[in-house]
Amino acid sequence: MSAAEAKIMTETNNKEREKAALEAYAGDRGLNYEENLLWEKEFSDSPGVDLPEPAKAPLRTGAQARENVGLPQLSEPQVLRHFVRMSTWNYSIDHGFFPLGSCTMKHNPRLNEKVARLNGFANIHPLQPEETVQGALKLQHELQNWLAELTGLPGVCLTPAAGAHGELAGMMTIRRAHELAGQTRRKIVLSPDSAHGTNPATAVMCGFQVRNIPTRETGRLTVEAFREALFETDPEGADIAGMMVTNPNTCGLFETEILEIVDLLHEAGGYFYCDGANFNALVGKIRPGDFGVDVMHINLHKTFSTPHGGGGPGSGPICCSEKLAHAMPVPTVVKDGETYRLESGEDRPETLGRLKAFQGQFGMHVRALTYMLSHGADGLKQVAEDAVLNANYILACLKDEYHVPYEGPCMHECLLTDKKQKELGVTTLDIAKGLVERGYHPMTTYFPLVLQGTMLIEPTETESKDSIDRFISVMKDFASDVRNGKADDFHAFPLSSPRRRLDEVQAAKYPVLKWTEN
Ligand SMILES: *Cc1c(COP(=O)(O)O)cnc(C)c1O
Repeated sequence: MSAAEAKIMTETNNKEREKAALEAYAGDRGLNYEENLLWEKEFSDSPGVDLPEPAKAPLRTGAQARENVGLPQLSEPQVLRHFVRMSTWNYSIDHGFFPLGSCTMKHNPRLNEKVARLNGFANIHPLQPEETVQGALKLQHELQNWLAELTGLPGVCLTPAAGAHGELAGMMTIRRAHELAGQTRRKIVLSPDSAHGTNPATAVMCGFQVRNIPTRETGRLTVEAFREALFETDPEGADIAGMMVTNPNTCGLFETEILEIVDLLHEAGGYFYCDGANFNALVGKIRPGDFGVDVMHINLHKTFSTPHGGGGPGSGPICCSEKLAHAMPVPTVVKDGETYRLESGEDRPETLGRLKAFQGQFGMHVRALTYMLSHGADGLKQVAEDAVLNANYILACLKDEYHVPYEGPCMHECLLTDKKQKELGVTTLDIAKGLVERGYHPMTTYFPLVLQGTMLIEPTETESKDSIDRFISVMKDFASDVRNGKADDFHAFPLSSPRRRLDEVQAAKYPVLKWTEN
């Protein structure tokens, strides 16, 4: 290419980029504000803070010394507006219905927040002497007991910092137990194709090999498919470390053949890891320990209403059966007479060790226990009942308009696909963008991966019938608009949000990770 041609190309590209930027840049509209980066603002002469000239001190950082790091000079109101404006971009459960499947976006009761802000909980430090934080340790001990009771699994470790971290803790516990038993040949973890993506990822991070179990037409595990996978490379399954199953699974279905499957697994010497992120569908109704689970994690930030999704850190305690409790991470809280203390490695020499600094997300433990105590055992049972009822109500109301891939009732989330709409040119993505246009956070799209064009809808028990009915009527409107030849409208959605459709391929392939001036 000649220099002249290159120049023309660059100019054309720039023009196209300008045009694209104009289309995407909606500017301030209604009470939606665009917001530049702090660095792109006009720097004022009067920054928010006046610092005195630093005293002359000898430089001790050698070549690392920096003279001017170029911090923006902004006044307090400029900084405040910047962050407050951006905070308004974050759609949350406090804004409206948030039917994101697999995420359990339920209301976070304000009572939890009030309790978490009590001085004795909010202003303590993990390095304080234990005798000064007996109340906090008692709270964690009580939370351990509640989780043990609700899951039927007696060993509880609160430290994992999120669901995926709990999976890691659980799989490391299984690995440790096999090591202690001299069973180091066990390298294979079975996992169905309906598993949450974090399951195989966790197994691989722990050094296991993942063997996929196909779920076929029913969306569920079958004994037959399981048996095939279990004995694929060893007639006794002696190379199997365990299986990871999400139950209810990511299609929103309960694994009906789980008892027989777990018996087979246990006979072969494997452990059952249950991804308990969907515990909202079961809490108070059945105890996973009773269907053979050896270890599971609980997402406090899903089932037990602690904030998540930008609202707060997660928390993913693990619960272990008697068989595995000796191997799980330290510390748990133990009670000696009337005194609470954190156990150490000496209390439990077979532990896999410490997983992270300190004792987990304490503030979330406070919120979760508050939630449990304010609901009581009967209230928690009703949580599961209402969550399942709400999901089935949506399923029943939308089943004529949208394709329902699996027969029968669902658990706490329902699965639809875009099969009917796609024939008329409208996909799951278009429906999701349509929901944005109508003021809803979309459902989970294109997940689970076992089918095409999936839409996973989880209303949770905290939505009123009114808000669920409104959502249903919007979804019905969409279906009838598609039938009535308005497919093209959908391709333009959303019309009124500051950003419309982003080039996700471009963003994934060429992410811009660093701001540069022009
Ligand atoms: C949310 C979820 C996870 C991961 O939990 P994080 O707290 O996001 O790490 C794992 N499995 C399932 C089924 C989930 O829904």
